[in-house]
Formats: sequence, C-alpha cells, structure tokens
Amino acid sequence: MSILRFKAIEKLSTLPDREVLLEKKLSEYFCDNVFSMDTMREYLTKEAYKSISGAVESGDKISRDIADQIAVALKDWSLAKGVTHYTHWFQPLNGATAEKHDSFFTPIEPGKAIERFNGSMLIQQEPDASSFPSGGIRNTFEARGYTAWDPTSPAFIIGTTLCIPSVFISYTGETLDYKTPLLKALYEIDVAATDVMKSYFDRNTKKVQATLGWEQEYFLIDLGFVNARPDLQLTGRTLLGHAPAKGQQLDDHYFGSIPARTMNFMKELERESLKLGIPVTTRHNEVAPNQFELAPMFEEANLAVDHNSLLMDIMARIARKHHFKVLLHEKPFKGVNGSGKHNNWSLATDSGDNLLSPGKNPKQNLQFLTFFVNTIKAVAEYGDLIRSAIATATNDYRLGAGEAPPAIISVFIGSALSSVLDELEKVKKGKLSPDEKTNLKLNLVGKIPEILLDNTDRNRTSPFAFTGNKFEIRAVGSTANCAEIMTVMNTIMAKQLRDFKKEVDALIKKGLKKDEAIFNVLREYIKTSKKIRFEGDGYSQAWVEEAKKRGLKNLVSTPEALAIELEKKNIDVYVETGILTEREVRARNEIKLEKYSNLLAIESQVLADLARNHIVPTAIRYQNELIENVKGLKDIFGPDFMEYGKEEFEFIQKISSHNSELKRLTEALLEDKDMAIQMEDAQEKAEYFCKNVKPRMEEIRFHVDELEMMVDDEMWPLPKYREMMFLR
Ligand code: ADP
Ligand code: MG
Repeated sequence: MSILRFKAIEKLSTLPDREVLLEKKLSEYFCDNVFSMDTMREYLTKEAYKSISGAVESGDKISRDIADQIAVALKDWSLAKGVTHYTHWFQPLNGATAEKHDSFFTPIEPGKAIERFNGSMLIQQEPDASSFPSGGIRNTFEARGYTAWDPTSPAFIIGTTLCIPSVFISYTGETLDYKTPLLKALYEIDVAATDVMKSYFDRNTKKVQATLGWEQEYFLIDLGFVNARPDLQLTGRTLLGHAPAKGQQLDDHYFGSIPARTMNFMKELERESLKLGIPVTTRHNEVAPNQFELAPMFEEANLAVDHNSLLMDIMARIARKHHFKVLLHEKPFKGVNGSGKHNNWSLATDSGDNLLSPGKNPKQNLQFLTFFVNTIKAVAEYGDLIRSAIATATNDYRLGAGEAPPAIISVFIGSALSSVLDELEKVKKGKLSPDEKTNLKLNLVGKIPEILLDNTDRNRTSPFAFTGNKFEIRAVGSTANCAEIMTVMNTIMAKQLRDFKKEVDALIKKGLKKDEAIFNVLREYIKTSKKIRFEGDGYSQAWVEEAKKRGLKNLVSTPEALAIELEKKNIDVYVETGILTEREVRARNEIKLEKYSNLLAIESQVLADLARNHIVPTAIRYQNELIENVKGLKDIFGPDFMEYGKEEFEFIQKISSHNSELKRLTEALLEDKDMAIQMEDAQEKAEYFCKNVKPRMEEIRFHVDELEMMVDDEMWPLPKYREMMFLR
C-alpha cells in the first residue's frame, strides 16, 4: 500500500492538464440539453404547449392525449441529439439519484424495429425498486413502487440518455422519495401565501412560489490519494490522519487564486451545468485548502432541488476526468473546516415580487413585515423540525464544531430589524388612533428600506439568518438533498400563514381595520417568538448556556434530533397540512435512523480494518528496525548501550503500547458494532452507535495519529493530510 501513496505523489508531477476550452459564450450553452419551455414551443403543438405551461404554472393536469403528443416531441428532440435510452430520474431516500434505463428501440416484427416512446412511458415507469429504503412501508410481497413524471421540472439529456424528473411512490400510495412531499409542501405554501396576499395586500396575486438558491461547498482531492486511502473511498472522509504543520491558519486559500487543474475542472463543470439548465454563476475558493464553492442563481424551489441533485451527480463524473475526486462529505478532514450547503430561501409572487424584500411604500413594507415575522414565528414553533431535517451522521461531524452553526436553532435578523420589531412590540392593543397609525406607517414601517440599505450586519455564526431579502439556512450539510429542509421550511411556513390568516380575520370580524388587525397579530408573534432571536456569537459557550435558559433545545447528535421528529406536535403539522401521513413520517424517521447506524457500522469496520491491516503491521515493521538498531548498539557499546539507545528503546516501548491498545480497542469496537447491528429498535440502535461506537473510534484514531508521528515517513502507507491538501 505504501507504494500506492508514493505512486500517487509521483504521478502528480507528470499529470497532464485537461485543458477545457469554451467554443462559444456561456449563455449559448445554457439549456442546450434541456427540453425547456423554448424548445417545447418549437416541438409542440400550441395545444400541448399550453397544457404543459398550465401544468408548470398552476399545476393543471395533463390529459393522456396531450401526454402522447409530448412524448413524441420529446422522442424527436432526443433522437436528433443522439439519444438512445430514456429513464425516469428520481431521488429515493438513500440520498443518491436513481435511474433505470430503457431503450427507445422496440422490435415490432421479425427483422424490423422502430424507436418508440409514448405517453404512458413518459408518465410512468416501474423500476425494480425492492432495495431502496422504505422504512418498512414496502413489504417484499408488494416489492415494487413506481415512478411518475413531474412535468414541473423539465426533462434533460445526460450522455445518450433522456432523463425525466419523477416522483417515486409505493403501490399502496406512500411516498418513497424526497420530491413528493416537497411538491406537496410547495403547493401548500402557494395556497397559504396566495391567500394572505390576495386578502390583505394584492388582489391580483395568482401564485406564490418558494425560491431556493443553494451554495454547494466541496473538496477536490487527487484521485491517486483517494485510491490509496480506503477510508476516503468507502466513507468519504478520513478516519485517521494527523493534522499538517500548515493548516488553514494562514487563511491564504479563501478567495485566493484558483489552481490550474481545479480551474479546468470548474470550467468543464460549469459548461456541463449550463447545458443542463443549472444557472451557475459563482465559484471561489473556500476557507480550507482544496475546498471550493459553487452557487447558481436562485430558482423555483423544486427546480433548484433537482438542479442541486443533478449537480452533485455530474460533479463526480467530471472530477474523474481531471483525476480528482469530489468530496461532498461534511467533514472530510479533522481539524479543517467542513462543508455545508447554505439554502437561501424566500417567497415570490407570480408578478415577481419577493415577499421578503422591503418595498417602496408603507403598504409594501407591511407586507414584508408580515412574511418576515411569520417566518420567525414558524421557526420559533418548529425549529426542532429544521434541526431534524439537517440531522445526518455526516453532518454531526461539522455542526457546532466552531466553524459551522451550532445544533441550536436560532434566528439572526440584524440590529436594525431587531429594533423595528422591538418598536412594533410596543404597539397598543386593539384599535389605533389616526395619529398612532400615521406615526407607525411613516416613522417605523416606512423607514425599513432605508434602514436595510446601509445595514451590512452579517452574522456567520447563525444557523438561520436574514440577509436583506431572503433567509439563509446555514446548517444544511453539503451532502444533503435540499428537498428535505425545503419540505420542512415550506410546510411550517404554510401552517404558520394559515394560522395567521385565521387570527387576522377574527380580529377584522371584531371590527378592527385590516392594518390594525395585522399589527395586532404581528405584535403578539413578535412577543411569543422572541426566544428564537439571537444576534450574538453562535459559536460561543455563552450561547449554549443562554439557549438553555431560554428553553431552546441543543440537539447535538442525530439520534437526539431524530427522536424529536416523532413528537406529537411535529407529526401533527405534517398530517394537518397533508404533506405526509403519520405512517410516512414514522417510516422516514426510521430510514434516517437506519442510515445513521449503517454509516457508523461501515466507518467502524473500515477503521478496524485500517488499524489492523495497515497501521499495526507498519508500526511493527518500523519497530523491528528500531530493535535491530538497538541490538547493533548493544554489539558496539556492550553494557553501556543504553546511554546511546535510550530514545530508540523508549520508542520501541511506546509503539508496543500503542499497538496493544489498538488491538484491544479494535476488538471492542467490532464487538460493539456487531452487537448494535442486531438491535431491533432503530432509535436504540442509533443511540448505541452514537454513545458507544463513536467515542471508541476517536480513541483508536488517537493511537493511530500518534503512531503516524513516530513511524518513518517512508513506511507510512496512507497519504498524509499535508499531501492531500497541499500537493497539486
Ligand atoms: P451573498 O449572500 O454572498 O452576499 P447573494 O446575496 O447574492 O450573495 O446571494 C447568495 C445566494 O442567495 C445565491 O445563491 C442567490 O442565488 C441566492 N438568492 C438571492 N436572492 C434569493 C431569493 N430571493 N430567494 C432565494 N435565494 C436567493
Ligand atoms: Mg452563504
């Protein structure tokens, strides 16, 4: 194995650059491989085009006849681009994207075949899905679920395959993927927000969309190094490894110039993303060495989620071409910043108004305040669900590590808006005098845009921060499917807006004017959600203590965070809004717990193998050299040899003691793991892994990392941190 490490280093110096040239302007690549609205206009009849725009814009059903027409157009367009197969492209709960390719090619009589694709093939496909996670929903005898076309996200081509974005549902009707509940939540937020808009602010509002702009962080590591590290290959992170002498202390990577090989990778990734309709716009270095970020322009949330899943997919493929591996893991390297995926979230009307953007006049600002305060209230009520939506085994290594938001959910809004809310809290109950109204409108609400304009308040330590015209959810992990947090966010906001509407209407019925009623309800919300607002340093120990006093939960581990998901109030919000049934919530919860345990089981097995098969034998080999050396000293110096060989002698002893500890600990680790795997209850099992298996892995790592510092560098089999991070 040590050979692999040195081969990788050697290869680096001779690795040819894969030069990426652009043949045209970036804008000309955009949507090349997407069956976009523009392409549809070209390929479809007027009737079919109208039908599909209706489906995209207002969720109208598409008739069977029209589906046939669309299928034919899709086939023609694809064949012209050299496509041979099609697949329903979906996002099962194991976190990856899935596809099952079927050929257009269809034999029709002996010696004769055609390319065939029709409406029913477009609408539905049956993957052999018995091994996707279902949390016990899909019994083996009803082994299969089916995928169904999501016409709101356009089809696209990868290589020679037409991909049709789809949902994945069991035969008994339960959802088995990320997209289905997301689509339901997006529908609910549309209904609830449109209702509020129409009733109080703009009678012409037809639709409200949730918008999402994600920012994807990742590491790029040379493939040779990854091949020499079984832990990176199998778990996506380093389970061992001593911190390098030079880390990120110098902060010289952040916004520094991008290395050439990386630049070529980025160029190709951007070109391919643009072809697939992903509107990537930003790239830069991140804080850690070899860490980068890519962000697109924000889009409608369902499309943005698909685009992020697609991006994670193509990143991996393109990286290989440049002899890189993309590490999406939240914490590939100990002691070095991890990766997250900020989710910027807002709401926009069909006329393009951003509901979280202050407007030009008091009325628009009251609208802004309404959605702003309701968001804070939603998070105050259901922050737990936000926490559980981002809970994964891999994100646990990052959250609260002094570089990423803590596990405590709080909202940051900046001092300017804080003082606006403080003032609003003082608004008198019930009816307002004309003077009070004027004062409120002109001096408080009316001044919001000015306040925000020169407000550069930024707080990087908050998990949920208002950034001028959107909220940024920062605790999401870099491997996450954004659908999960987006489902939660839009579900709790839909529920919140419904409640708000009821309360305001009740006050109006009692004789209050519309604005008065809104102010009255907002005032109460500001009061009751105060505990969730925090402007200070989220990384500090003081906040942990303060949060405890406020009664905010600090759910530091995934098992704890997932247990909360099954509290009655949290199940109720899904059931009440119709996003998920109780059975589905429980099944999904179980899937997540199982995923947690499985991941830790894999990590512990890999770690044990590495310790036993790589580290201990290497340490023994080095120890033997030392023994030979000491023996030699004894030959030369006789009884006085210890005067010269003292250090070597101590090293021999130390290595022995690390080795025997490693032996003991790996045995115990594997025993614990095997025991845990047998446990019936998913929650208990996950907790056992968390409390017993994880700490033991840390102990093992300690001994290995000590050995790494002692053993001759020439013998060490695994690429070291400094090599993976600084050699290019
Ligand atoms: P920064 O936060 O670095 O100052 P921006 O404010 O431009 O940068 O936006 C960061 C991210 O927020 C981008 O991915 C962008 O697409 C997204 N974003 C901007 N406006 C919205 C919005 N209304 N809804 C959702 N995401 C948005
Ligand atoms: Mg950001």
